[in-house]
Amino acid sequence: PTLRELYKAGVLKGTADAAKARHPPKQALLDRVSLYQGDITKLDVDAIVNAANRSLLGGGGVDGAIHAAAGRSLLEECRKLNGCETGDAKITKGYNLPARHVIHTVGPIYSSSNVETKAQQLASCYRTSLQLAVQNSLKHIAFPSISTGIYGYPIQDATHIALDVVRNFLDSEDGAKLERTIFVVWSDDDKRVYENLLPLYFPLE
Ligand code: ADP
Repeated sequence: PTLRELYKAGVLKGTADAAKARHPPKQALLDRVSLYQGDITKLDVDAIVNAANRSLLGGGGVDGAIHAAAGRSLLEECRKLNGCETGDAKITKGYNLPARHVIHTVGPIYSSSNVETKAQQLASCYRTSLQLAVQNSLKHIAFPSISTGIYGYPIQDATHIALDVVRNFLDSEDGAKLERTIFVVWSDDDKRVYENLLPLYFPLE
């Protein structure tokens, strides 16, 4: 569902004026941003983002699910990429996935020291993935909650970063070229975090 549909259903609630001052209501964005709970490998979109590791050769969590669903050809293309730095992203085809492309990004492994560096790296994952999508003329992008699984990033902090970067990007000239950005959550707890924070970044009028 789009954010507009979630507001209509009462799942998303209005916010205080202070939040609206930081991120002014922009009605058109409510039709271009969605929250989806479920398996990202099932989405028929231009690109899904993979929370990969630096080797780009597969792993657990969403990475394992994406490689399992895409098939061996994805791994073969990934082998040619020579890995990826933390905070950066690389694009491949989607092979057996319904999604046409996979954008592989490497989130930071969380630790409570160096919080500022971790936050910048996580923001960079979202920003670089969005830029790659636009550079490849892709219209949709679906993000899992990067770094918040095995990599241990606290979900609240990570979600603030994800929403802030996406809102700022959609406000930019490049962002206008993206028709749909989907936040994909797996657990009920993560869904509630997104439902609580989305109105701060994408307020209703
Ligand atoms: P990281 O190593 O970056 O922490 P994980 O894959 O461990 O990445 O977790 C990232 C998020 O993806 C977690 O919220 C996890 O629950 C979620 N996740 C796991 N499998 C899937 C899937 N098939 N579709 C969408 N999200 C998933």
